[in-house]
Amino acid sequence: MTAAATFEQVADNIARIRQTVPPTVRIVAVTKKLPSAAIRAAYNAGLRDFGESQVQEALTKQRELQDLADITWHMIGHLQTNKAKQVLEHFHWIHAVDSLRLAQKLNQLAADRGQLLQCCLQVKMVPDPPKYGFELEELWSALPHLDDCHHLSWAGLMTIPPLHTPAPETEGIFCQARALADQINRAGFAHLNLQQLSMGMSSDYPYAIAAGATMIRLGTILFGPRPS
Ligand SMILES: *Cc1c(COP(=O)(O)O)cnc(C)c1O
Repeated sequence: MTAAATFEQVADNIARIRQTVPPTVRIVAVTKKLPSAAIRAAYNAGLRDFGESQVQEALTKQRELQDLADITWHMIGHLQTNKAKQVLEHFHWIHAVDSLRLAQKLNQLAADRGQLLQCCLQVKMVPDPPKYGFELEELWSALPHLDDCHHLSWAGLMTIPPLHTPAPETEGIFCQARALADQINRAGFAHLNLQQLSMGMSSDYPYAIAAGATMIRLGTILFGPRPS
């Protein structure tokens, strides 16, 4: 647990934020760099969706939390293809499918093993060189090939505005992501039905909800500052 938030504060934070989030929006508690005790505290306060950004770290915590069998695990960070198998085996969702190569690797593993993974495509709505994710043009040319990866469940889009975007300006970016998902859904791909929008973090989630987010990924606002 960080010094910033005790278990009781975590429960208070969750209760307070819940009141501002429509019940249809899934809160994914981001617990990277936090101990499994933090996950347990949030679980006891009612959350069931947890997001991690590193495979090894997540697997350690999953072992410590085996008794909490109804957790839905979300991989939210950039994934190297050599970790794809572990994600398929130990996670229900992956939010950051950011290349065709990764999608094809996951698809091949899913076909071999008969496991289903809910996938979001990470897309950069505005150019943002340091970040992972599909550029728009790159995404459109990849879509027919992603559509061929039909052993995966293509659930939605994920986006993160460039660092230091003023929060009120994020809403426009999030609205563009929603419009893009609609556009893709209308384009007639057999396996791309993107109903989920994973967008919004501690600093900008109200704007993401206003723009139609279905999943918000919250860390700091629930647990306090992360240990570095
Ligand atoms: C760390 C992280 C979050 C949570 O960020 P906070 O600002 O602490 O809410 C959300 N999404 C991703 C992809 C992250 O890596």
